[in-house]
Amino acid sequence: MGLGRLFGTDGVRGVVNVELDPLFALKLGYAIGTFFGEGSRILIGRDVRIGGLMIMRAVEAGLMSAGVKVYEADLITTPALQHSIRSEGFDGGVMITASHNPPQYNGIKVLSSQGIEISRDQEREIEEIFFTSRFRKVSWSNIPYDIIKMEGLIEKYTNWVISLVDKEAIMRKRFTVVIDSANSTPSLTTPLVARKLGAKVVSINSNLDPFFPSRHPEPSPETLKETANIVANIKADIGIAHDADGDRGIVIDDKGRIHWGDRSAAILAKFLAEKHPELPKKVYTAVSSSILVEEYLKPFGIEVVWTKVGSIDISYLMLSQGGGICGFEENGGFMYPKHLIVRDGTMKLALMLELLAHERRKLSEIMDELPKYYPIKTKIPMKREVALKVVEEIKKIYSNYRMITIDGIKVFGNDFWFLVRPSGTEPILRIMVEAKDESKAKSIVKELTKIAKSVAENLEI
Ligand code: MG
Repeated sequence: MGLGRLFGTDGVRGVVNVELDPLFALKLGYAIGTFFGEGSRILIGRDVRIGGLMIMRAVEAGLMSAGVKVYEADLITTPALQHSIRSEGFDGGVMITASHNPPQYNGIKVLSSQGIEISRDQEREIEEIFFTSRFRKVSWSNIPYDIIKMEGLIEKYTNWVISLVDKEAIMRKRFTVVIDSANSTPSLTTPLVARKLGAKVVSINSNLDPFFPSRHPEPSPETLKETANIVANIKADIGIAHDADGDRGIVIDDKGRIHWGDRSAAILAKFLAEKHPELPKKVYTAVSSSILVEEYLKPFGIEVVWTKVGSIDISYLMLSQGGGICGFEENGGFMYPKHLIVRDGTMKLALMLELLAHERRKLSEIMDELPKYYPIKTKIPMKREVALKVVEEIKKIYSNYRMITIDGIKVFGNDFWFLVRPSGTEPILRIMVEAKDESKAKSIVKELTKIAKSVAENLEI
């Protein structure tokens, strides 16, 4: 039956008090509580965003009405909550966050007992409960009396992260690290981990501020210019910049160059494969990552498994195939299966420090090993139906090339690659192109844009 959808690529998102108001959150809380069932124990937390407390309270009320025992972590990063759910043996969790979205947004993310986002099928189950209002409210005497406040979770989480890296080797190096916490909860975790690893920490954008006064919460080459300047000017060994809930970490090298997540993940994958020869020689990444990953890792016998765009798809594919070295996204998400099969920007920094401790070179020198590509990202506004037709047309035109069609179309050339896909959340067609030289990249963008426009025009006639 034609039920509506609540969950997007990564949880439920909306503008606070517009789509995402307390009444909606309460209803979703009922549905989540009904899904987990009476007597289950759920850990809930939030990032710094406006409305976080209000939405959390509403979700908590819904959960309690369904007889769920609510444990509150309150202000925390998504990965620290995910780790705590698993390590403390909860039945699941809820994180109130809109990740990297603009300040007016907030969201609700549902997590399994393993700390991983619930599967796409489980999302459908909750949506069905929500839209058919099949809420199971318990009788009055079974409503939990209280909410239990959890203390010390961040301390335990940071100790766990440190236990997964070579602490002594890192301590000896006394690294200087710039940490940009996006004015949100990563400032509660990452600087602590870096300090415990003996680093001199320069913490910026670390005051909790839901208006994100310093920069947009999405870390990217555009939003991190100032942060990158600081890294270069104070001669830091490395910089890391998070999104608002701390699952992303964008790496900045000692020269102040900002590297997309697929680049830093490629060098981490090589390092982790050497450190853990027992791990299956596979990395998992979405089709939106560069083919430089394949080019760089192939000589080391590491296979790249391409997935749909969306970290949940990466997590579940890794789970079903028994892990691998790591999973990652070009946006800075990095999954280390010995930790959690979910993204964690704090863990990523700890691993980067371990890599640097074992190398005798600067980060900029290591990064220079990577194949060089000239990237262009663009988008064309169009309806999803039209965008899908464009993808079909490109499939025909490039039929002689190696391609992947699990999410839009990714085409592999000798000296270029591109990805054309309809956005999962907006009426736009996304185009990503990388080529060995700038003019080639530009000419491909031009050709793809021409194809897209002609398909759109023909459909309108
Ligand atoms: Mg995030």
